[in-house]
Amino acid sequence: MKFLCDQMLVRLGRWLRAAGYDTVIVEKACDDRTILEQALREGRLLLTRDRHFMEMATPQPLVVWLKGNILAECIQELSQKVPINWLHKPFSRCLVCNHELILADDSALQLVSEDIRGEPYTFWFCEQCQKVYWDGSHTNRMLRQMEKWQHHSQL
Ligand SMILES: [Zn+2]
Repeated sequence: MKFLCDQMLVRLGRWLRAAGYDTVIVEKACDDRTILEQALREGRLLLTRDRHFMEMATPQPLVVWLKGNILAECIQELSQKVPINWLHKPFSRCLVCNHELILADDSALQLVSEDIRGEPYTFWFCEQCQKVYWDGSHTNRMLRQMEKWQHHSQL
């Protein structure tokens, strides 16, 4: 399952990336037709808060309209409509650019401050934006959050 999030669902899109889903987030203003065409072309499910998409002549399973105003509502709605596994492949994608992460090698580790580098963390690297991630307290908090969502969606 791959996703395309509209501009109003940036945070949701980042969380889908955190769960490991290939997720494109619309970053600059684009007309609806262009967005829809990208979803079709790349086989992505379009997640949107824009009702107009529902009125366009498209195969409807392509578009999931979310009406929630806050992240928690969007997560709940999405989990009801689509079988999301929030523990799909945690932290396998860059949260910023969606590129797949690789294990950081020595040269990538040079980008991290020395005291963090010395910790027994697992380090991942995004070759696209040269960002290093590690399984510290921040990712653990995110993982706990995703575990909650996963547990909730299975009730
Ligand atoms: Zn990246």
